[in-house]
Amino acid sequence: MTTDVPTAPAALPDPGRHLTSPTTRSVLRIKHHLVSAARAHLCEQGFTEVFPPIIGPVTDPGSRGSKQVDVDFYGHRYKLMTSAILYKQASLLAFDKIFCVAPNVRLEPLETASTSRHLAEFHQLDVEVAGASRDDAVQLVEDLVVHMVDSVVRELPKEFAELGRDVEAFTELLKGSFGRMRHAEAVSELQGLGHPQSPDAELDWTGEALLSGRRDRPFFVTDYPKGSRGFYDRENPDAPGLLKNFDLVAAEGYGELCSGSQRTNDYAEIVTRIRETGENPQKYRWYLDLVREGVPASAGFGIGVERLTRYVAGLDAVWQASAFPKLPGVVSP
Ligand code: AMP
Ligand code: MG
Repeated sequence: MTTDVPTAPAALPDPGRHLTSPTTRSVLRIKHHLVSAARAHLCEQGFTEVFPPIIGPVTDPGSRGSKQVDVDFYGHRYKLMTSAILYKQASLLAFDKIFCVAPNVRLEPLETASTSRHLAEFHQLDVEVAGASRDDAVQLVEDLVVHMVDSVVRELPKEFAELGRDVEAFTELLKGSFGRMRHAEAVSELQGLGHPQSPDAELDWTGEALLSGRRDRPFFVTDYPKGSRGFYDRENPDAPGLLKNFDLVAAEGYGELCSGSQRTNDYAEIVTRIRETGENPQKYRWYLDLVREGVPASAGFGIGVERLTRYVAGLDAVWQASAFPKLPGVVSP
């Protein structure tokens, strides 16, 4: 862990000090290298990088507790993207295997400024594959993360030394077989530890950190209950009420790194699911028009680039993984 930077949001260093600190330089090099390694790995497997919009008439409604940002687009109310999900599914009309590295803006609740895990602006490495299942996507994330971490550990030993991050932390990760548990098992474990985790919701931040702190390798949590996630996660026909989705959670208490799922591409089901979440399907017209004409079945995921960088670099807080951090409620450039 680094010691020369404070974690309290009010103590964000000024940009000049932040950018010139040896810690920040090492962290940003690790971040750069993680993304470069992912690009190389995905391109080698036939993926095409796409560049999704950052504004549009609607965005992903499935982000817990955060507010969206409106943009005045010539008199029309547009949104800044909270995730690229709608455009990822649509992009499969052009290519079967796509990825992008895209900024997301989410006005997270003020109290998240001190979780060490939340930024109001961050990036996702987003991947989507036509015809893939949830299990294909899980395998793809596992291979991708192993490749990224292996590459950065081999190529940037000086940066890890500068940060005091012992790369032995990745011994289990680099063996390539991550843990797996269902959401219901995560709930039982947490309740057994005296943590009041709801069985109907995503794991809360404290619960996520508790499970993460008890493990020495990243692990998948699968099969979240319907209602806890976005309308695009496919319901399991063999286990109604459960979704064919997953999160990847880091070891050592660093928490969630990635969320993904097999997607629903059935028009009627999507409209019903949008209504169930209290949203007006009319808002999603461009997307629903495409789905009605037919978008491929798919599965995919989004890795939080700053979250992964924080875990790999062993940082106290996620803002340290951003050159120009935006913390909820904190005014900064
Ligand atoms: P989600 O769609 O909420 O599952 O977000 C996808 C991924 O983006 C998560 O697994 C995190 O790694 C990352 N992420 C989500 N929200 C934030 C945030 N507020 N700050 C930093 N990273 C985030
Ligand atoms: Mg998530």
